[in-house]
Amino acid sequence: MTAELARAARPLDCPCGGAAPNLKSGAKPPRFADCCGRFIDGGALPATAFELMRSRYTAYVLGEADYLRATWAAETCPADLDSDPNAPGAPRWLGLAIKRHEPVDATHALVEFVARYKSGGRAFRLHELSRFTRGDDGRWRYVDGDILEG
Ligand SMILES: [Zn+2]
Repeated sequence: MTAELARAARPLDCPCGGAAPNLKSGAKPPRFADCCGRFIDGGALPATAFELMRSRYTAYVLGEADYLRATWAAETCPADLDSDPNAPGAPRWLGLAIKRHEPVDATHALVEFVARYKSGGRAFRLHELSRFTRGDDGRWRYVDGDILEG
């Protein structure tokens, strides 16, 4: 992918739905520009691991591989990151719920989430407990996660 390619169109409402622990169901989604757009397009730094997590979900929806790479710990970031949302068989992301945000210490946090998606006409749930670290540069990054059942 080259920088000359047009960026994916930006949605008005944020794809993450403003997912947060204890968010009431049916809550009105925030504007993309006020939510994950600040981080993906605006260069602002998420203050918490769960803000980073939901911006990474939104980056998957939009196919923003550069953002996914930039927010992935170097030691676990895959060499080939296939995130083209228009590729055949690519998951179509349907929504995000954040179950739990647990700061461990100043530079480590856990985020438990459920992301729903469709692939090949079937609906799936990705339920994961993710680990995040914060570098000396103040940036939170995704490390890895455990898939949870149910
Ligand atoms: Zn968002």
